[in-house]
Amino acid sequence: MSELESMIRDVPDFPKKGIIFKDITPLLATPQGLAGATEAMAAPFLDRQIDLVVGIESRGFIFGTTVAMALGAGFVPIRKPGKLPAATASASYDLEYGSDSIEIHADAVRKGQRVLMLDDLLATGGTMQAACGLVEKLGGRIVGVSFLIELAFLDGRKKLANHDVHSVIVVSY
Ligand code: AMP
Repeated sequence: MSELESMIRDVPDFPKKGIIFKDITPLLATPQGLAGATEAMAAPFLDRQIDLVVGIESRGFIFGTTVAMALGAGFVPIRKPGKLPAATASASYDLEYGSDSIEIHADAVRKGQRVLMLDDLLATGGTMQAACGLVEKLGGRIVGVSFLIELAFLDGRKKLANHDVHSVIVVSY
């Protein structure tokens, strides 16, 4: 197990029975964890001329901003409905039961800007697939997708098949 992986805490049955929640707060609480995870998430994109890092609420905001600083890029948040104050674009996506939606400021990404999409964890991939669709609708060019953790057994990568996806920690059980 890598040093970074050892700083992630498994919390069984949260937020509901049967889910093993990957708690990144112990990693965030150490300087080595925060810096190490930021460096590892940014590394594949250092020479890719990223203009913007787009992070998904809420844990995508943490590494979204640190990785943006590491890449010399700006940061744009994707939020749950009703949180962003100006005009938005929105997308809905299916969950196991029901559906959810996300929003981005309509003027947050300009046509042709080079974008790195980022979240803490890839599970089924539905959230990131919808987020990528939103950024592409605004004319952004998605250069890559970065996660700290990938739950490989859920095959979320399949939903992002047309993108360059990097995960620092791959969990395959
Ligand atoms: P998905 O759309 O299924 O890929 O879900 C991804 C989103 O749900 C991410 O924003 C994650 O933070 C969160 N998530 C899903 N499963 C877990 C898990 N086992 N532990 C922590 N966060 C999770």
